[in-house]
Amino acid sequence: MVVLKFGGTSVGSAERMDSVLDICTEFLPESPVLISSAMSGITNRLVAIGDHLEDGDSSKAMEEWEAIRLLHVETAESFLEGDILQEALEDIESHLKRLLGLIKGLGLLQEASPRSRDTLVSFGEILSTRLLYHRARMRSMDVSWKDSRDLVKTDDNFQAAKVDMEQTFSNIKTSMPEKTNHLYIAQGFIGSTERPEHPQVTTTLGRGGSDYSSTIYGAALHAREVQIWTDVNGIMTSDPRKVDGVQTIEKITYDEAAELAFFGAKVVHPSTIQPAVHKSIPVLVKNTMDPHGPYTTIGPDAPGEGLRAISGKKNITLVTITSSRMLEAYGFLKKIFEVFENHTTPVDLLATSEVSVSMTIEDTSKLPSIIQDLQVYGEVGVEKDSAIVCLVGPRLWKNPGLISRVFHSISGVEIRMISMGASDINLSFVVPEEDVDETIRKVHGEFYPAG
Ligand code: ADP
Ligand code: ASP
Ligand code: MG
Repeated sequence: MVVLKFGGTSVGSAERMDSVLDICTEFLPESPVLISSAMSGITNRLVAIGDHLEDGDSSKAMEEWEAIRLLHVETAESFLEGDILQEALEDIESHLKRLLGLIKGLGLLQEASPRSRDTLVSFGEILSTRLLYHRARMRSMDVSWKDSRDLVKTDDNFQAAKVDMEQTFSNIKTSMPEKTNHLYIAQGFIGSTERPEHPQVTTTLGRGGSDYSSTIYGAALHAREVQIWTDVNGIMTSDPRKVDGVQTIEKITYDEAAELAFFGAKVVHPSTIQPAVHKSIPVLVKNTMDPHGPYTTIGPDAPGEGLRAISGKKNITLVTITSSRMLEAYGFLKKIFEVFENHTTPVDLLATSEVSVSMTIEDTSKLPSIIQDLQVYGEVGVEKDSAIVCLVGPRLWKNPGLISRVFHSISGVEIRMISMGASDINLSFVVPEEDVDETIRKVHGEFYPAG
């Protein structure tokens, strides 16, 4: 079997959805599973509905609902006809009516909890996959639609739910037996809680989580391959929206791709790699707009040495504790980490000296309490508006000239902290946020000169 995941822009219009089904048709002999995101822009609109409801602005929420309705109804009308069009319109309208009921209910309460928001945003993936399903029927394909909320079982950590892999794999395997010349369609991003005594409650895997869904389905089905279809030619040497002259990386390892994703390369969600590694499934990243063009294969091995790619992550806060009590003391780091642990705040990068420890965090919701607790151990400095630049490549640190070239290319940029990964595939440093894009461009230009 093969799992084909399509992102928002890939299913953003009737024409795009047809291209998606063309691609799926090529794979019909292999019993493909289509995992789809919401149509482009729809998740953002649903998130905005939540925000408007919280602000008590029901009329703005209704405007968003109207826009969502219009896009889906017009898409249906533009590529469906006859009975299938009628059925599809009834189907789409019934989901929209349920969405409207939810909006009205939450509007009365002026409430949009993480739990309600997950149900709200799930409509995006439900609607897009219903349209794909009806269009596949229109094209006389043998197709079935599956509801990921029945299959992907999670805890109740709404908006970033943790998947119960064992239960989920078993559900997917049972529900999707291999069928030649048949297309399964299911949603990325969404799942539901498994609480036998309660009705299931919708959850999501975090923004961009459809990539993760695709490898979960792939691992459950022992797929030959997972293909992530997006709007660029695979994983590139840097973000093509920000850097000129980027190139497609033909092959990259699971570890390298995971580092890149974790440190800001939006092209794949950070959790995507894990289920694939587990079952050694290759993950291909391809461009829906250029289906036979260059693409990336993520797998256990990749040839080459040196710098493979550069990513950047904004909204980082650097926390530094300075204390002479650290001198030749042991147990100090443990105490510091306990503070972050007690406040359930993950630390991304770390650097220590004899008298200070610097750490980066992304989630600053508990920062005031963290600072208070850390002050027991020393002087605490906080630098907001920072960013991480992450360089990834095989044996990065084994290449003597490389590091000097990197830092030479960005001389003048204020580097606040440097950290190498526990493995030798990652070199990261912290710069002021306003300098991050330019820093990445400079390093990229040094290693991948234009022309
Ligand atoms: P989808 O909707 O298909 O999931 P996303 O917008 O989530 O697509 O991810 C694709 C985007 O990721 C690209 O348009 C690109 O701007 C961005 N991106 C960031 N870093 C990279 C990179 N190294 N290689 C390719 N794309 C990248
Ligand atoms: N539709 C969701 C989002 O926009 C999930 C995804 O596209 O991966 O975040
Ligand atoms: Mg994405």
